[in-house]
Parts: sequence; structure tokens; C-alpha cells
Amino acid sequence: MQKAFIRLFELDSDTMLKLYNTLIRKKMPFKPIHDKLVGLYTCGITAYYSPHIGNMRTYINEDVIRRVIQRNGYSVTHIQNVTDVGHLVSDADTGEDKLRLAAEKEHRTMRSIADFYTKMFTDDMESLNILMPSLMPKPSEHIPEIISLIKRIDEKGFLYKAEDGMYFDTAKFKSYGELTGMTLKELLDNLKAGARVDVVKGKKNITDFVVWRFAHGDEKEMIWDSPWGRGFPGWHIECSALSMKYLGEHFDIHTGGVDHIAIHHTNEIAQSEAATGQKFVNYWMHMNFLVVEGQKMSKSLRNIFTVQDILGRGYNPLAFRLFMMSGHYRQILNFTFEGLDNAVKTLNGMYSFLERLGEVKNTAKNLDTNDFKKAITTHKKLFFKALNDDINTPQSLAEMHAVISETNSRKESGKLNKAEARFVAKVMLTFDEVLGLNFAEHVSAKKEPLAAEIKKLVDERETARKSKDFKKADEIRKLLGEKYHIVLEDTKDGVVWHKP
Ligand code: AMP
Ligand code: ZN
Repeated sequence: MQKAFIRLFELDSDTMLKLYNTLIRKKMPFKPIHDKLVGLYTCGITAYYSPHIGNMRTYINEDVIRRVIQRNGYSVTHIQNVTDVGHLVSDADTGEDKLRLAAEKEHRTMRSIADFYTKMFTDDMESLNILMPSLMPKPSEHIPEIISLIKRIDEKGFLYKAEDGMYFDTAKFKSYGELTGMTLKELLDNLKAGARVDVVKGKKNITDFVVWRFAHGDEKEMIWDSPWGRGFPGWHIECSALSMKYLGEHFDIHTGGVDHIAIHHTNEIAQSEAATGQKFVNYWMHMNFLVVEGQKMSKSLRNIFTVQDILGRGYNPLAFRLFMMSGHYRQILNFTFEGLDNAVKTLNGMYSFLERLGEVKNTAKNLDTNDFKKAITTHKKLFFKALNDDINTPQSLAEMHAVISETNSRKESGKLNKAEARFVAKVMLTFDEVLGLNFAEHVSAKKEPLAAEIKKLVDERETARKSKDFKKADEIRKLLGEKYHIVLEDTKDGVVWHKP
């Protein structure tokens, strides 16, 4: 207990929210534009494939960021697009539209492809307890807004026509690439090395990108008239137009995966600021990648898993959520099934801890109750301090485990009373406002009575234990665990069972 007090005392007393801003490559105190209202934009999925667990790691991390901001007393308007047109095969704006290709391949309409995968995605969000955004707008339903933004860019002289569309002239935007922290030369070398660059007739600079793509003439849907001819919007312009429409031309936080820094977000900044002449976003936050068994997810390695795969193998999706929170969002995280198994054990341990709190019957008065509560409160403060320090989830989980182990030792020493157990349960529920692990269900869990055959085994084991036949008692305990998933705990009031 004492240790936690000392640590809190030693730590700097400033617990205000700090976020790492890719734009300046530093953590900075969070100060929203409007007093208590925060505008948050997260890049959503391109709805033409089953989202994989890497995508979902990013959305879990973004969900925790949103929950931490809310926990700091702000209300959040959260906009997350669903791309249903305009995302070309290469993020560097070459090739065909990903959805159009998928529609042709599957002989379906782009609309039905987008609806199908959007439903799959929102189902995954639900099973992972990710809060739904305030709105999930689609570019196909915002063509007038997109066209009017492109017109503004045109009026400011940043637009030119190339063979396959209207392009943004990045050479005219002085701070182009600032988000990457690289000089323009370094950025160009990087793009040349990393991307397949198709030559487009009339395109002036390798970093220039399409804002309006011309129709070939054989497209069946998702084609609109515009001042530049029939066609469809580019991918980057969609996020600028949608975020500005719902959050204003200058808003607080924009997030996405690290792969969006060099192209998608760099282009969003250039076109938005070119159009409005003012700063677009104050805080840019980027989520690092999930790798599988140390390798990038790829079809050829057959290591792409979905949330459905995890459910299919019988895992609780919230154990995956816990696993993802065990790493910091700016670090690469390695997914293994062994890691997921450990997360299952840890989560089940938390659930049975909560259930056991509800079973505490001790009503004795403890003279040191206040000391115990203070120690728990200190861990609670450190939990939120860690989260406010650029969303340090691994550290906050360590503080939660400290609450669990201090409470367990108090229980083992026979001291923990009902009021203290209730106090700890309340603290755990506060943690869960950010963690989203469904603690509430377990705090108030009513146990179903045991089936007669299991009850018989529990009683037989109790008789064996009392008559000191430990071999038999252990065998029955093992059988109960393996066959019926029942965990037994011997307490001074007799045996107690749990279903983890
Ligand atoms: P996309 O549909 O390709 O635009 O991807 C949706 C989101 O998932 C984006 O924010 C990507 O940066 C992110 N993402 C893609 N692959 C991974 C990965 N392996 N780990 C974490 N995030 C990813
Ligand atoms: Zn985006």
C-alpha cells in the first residue's frame, strides 16, 4: 500500500491530458478549440473486404482515445467515414477504384458491396465494444459538398487537369509533407522507393494527387456530373469534405493508422488548408500496426485473421480487446494465439475477481479501512494519470492489477469486508468506462444454480478434502475445471465455485 502512496507523491502532480501529436512529433497538453466540445475524425474502412484484426486494433485504440477524452469531461462529436467510392487500388492514386473492381468481380453493385462490408464492420465494432461514432458518412451521399470543396481549391489555383482527372499541384503548397517530418526530397525518395508509380500523362509531380477522377464511360454506378466532367471523387478529398462538413474547417483531432501519414493525411492537410487558408487540424494521432507472429499480415502468408475467425475459435472478443490494450498504440504489437490465450486467462481472472467481490459477506469493522481505501484510490489516480499520459494503456492495466492484488491479499488475510468490496467494485467499474470490458455484467452476476451432476462432484470433493483425501479432491477439482469449466476456491466459509 505504502509504495503506491510514495509513487503518487513523487510523480508530477500534473495529470492533465497529454497527446502525442504527429505534426510536431511530441506529446502536448490537450486543449480543445471549443471549451468542452471535442471534434474527432477517424478514417473509416474502405468497405470492400472483411476487416481484419489489424484494422480492428486501430479502431479499438481510437475507441480508447475517445473514451479517455470523454472521461476528462469533454463531449465528443466523433465522425468516421465509410469509403464507398474513390479509393483506388494504390493509395498513391493509381489503378482502379477498389469497390468498382470488387463489384465487377462479384457481379454485384458497388452499393451492395459497401452495405455488406459496412454491416460486417459495425458487427465487429459491436462485439469489440467499440462505441459507435456520432455519424458514419459516405462520400457517395456527399457529392455536392465534395464538388464545392474542389471548386474552392480550383479558385485558389491549386488544381490542374491531367489525362485521367483533376490533380492537386503539391508544388504550390509550401509546407507539403510537414506531417511526415521529412524534407520534400526525403519524402520523394521514400515514395519512389516504396510505391509502384504509374505514369499519368500530364501529372506534374510524383506527389500530386487526384481530387476528381474522370469516368471511362463504361461505369455502371457511382458516377456524377461535375464542372470538370463526369466522374467520381478521389479518396483524400472525401475525408477533407466530410470532416469539414460535420466538424468545421478547423477541428481538434484526426486519427488513423500510421500508413496514412505519408500520403492520405499529408494530402488531406494540403488540400484543406489550400482551400480554407487556415490550419485544418490541431492534433494528428496515428495508430501503429498489428503484426501476426512477427510478420505483416498478407494473403500469401495466410496470416490474415478476422474477428469472425476469433469468434469461430470460441474466443471472447473482449479478450482480443484486452490483448490490444496491453500494448501502447504507438508501438507495433505482435498478435499470437498464445498471447490471446493469456488475455483470456487474465480477463476471466478479472471477471471472477468481480464476482467474488459480490460474494464477500464479512461485515466486521476494520480500523484500517481508510488506509485500504486510500491505497486503492491512489492506484485509481495512477490508472487515469497513465491514460492521460498519451493513452498509456499498458501502465493503466498494471495499476488495475495492483488494485486486484491488494484486494486479494486483504481478502486472503480475512479482512476484506463488504463495504470495502463494494468500494473496490465501484473503482473497477470506473476503470471499465475506458477499458470497455463489460465489468458491470460480472459485478452484478447472479449465479445460476449448478447442475445436479456438477453439484454432486463439488460435494464429493468437499467430503474428500475434509477427510484429507487430497489426491481424490485434486482429481475432482481437475475434472470440474476441464469438463465443466468450474473453478473451486477454498475459503474459510467453505468451498466457493466460479465459472470464469
Ligand atoms: P483501410 O480500410 O485500408 O483504409 O484501413 C482501415 C484502417 O485500418 C486504417 O486506419 C489503416 O491504417 C488501419 N490498418 C490497416 N492495416 C493495419 C494493421 N495491420 N494494423 C493496424 N491497423 C491497420
Ligand atoms: Zn481518411
